[in-house]
Amino acid sequence: MCELVRAARYRRRAMSFQPSADELLANNARYTSEHPTPGLALEPTRHLCVVACMDSRMDIFAMLGLGPGEAHVIRNAGGVVTDDVIRSLTISQRKLQTREILLMQHAGCGLGTFTDEDFSEELANEVGMRPPWRTHAFRDPQVSVRRDMAQLLHNPFLLPGTRIRGFVVDIETFDLEEIFAEEGAPSVVRTPALGIPQVS
Ligand SMILES: [Zn+2]
Repeated sequence: MCELVRAARYRRRAMSFQPSADELLANNARYTSEHPTPGLALEPTRHLCVVACMDSRMDIFAMLGLGPGEAHVIRNAGGVVTDDVIRSLTISQRKLQTREILLMQHAGCGLGTFTDEDFSEELANEVGMRPPWRTHAFRDPQVSVRRDMAQLLHNPFLLPGTRIRGFVVDIETFDLEEIFAEEGAPSVVRTPALGIPQVS
């Protein structure tokens, strides 16, 4: 396909999905008048951090019965553990006192519709270079949650004793299926806190 035609198609598609900013601002005005929430503490009152997929069907606060000020919610494509998720979790724990992590991925995720290699190749063909990041695409959300839990459990920047629970969300019913890192394994971070390196 000619590059110009492709660019024009992308532009048309982007424009047709553009939200009305005026409508959103009107929604915000209504929200601020109906939901005054002044004086909430900076630290989440449940000391909880949820890592979840950005899927627009999942209303994380509603699904878990959470209210404003109760939990941090970190979302990305897939709800996968990336360097930036670790950055946010570390700040959440060390500066804002969270101590428990819920990891939520789901069946029917957009990340299950391609492979990392195919996506990278597709981008390289189109723009002339591969992206420096991985997509973390997965076929099986159970496997992906288990692997990401293992990554969290052994991450040196997370506080020892952090409780970690992982779930796969049924995207039709929003039921949560709990996933365990490994049979009989404790779901708390065991890695000792980072200390000052000893010089021998
Ligand atoms: Zn998803």
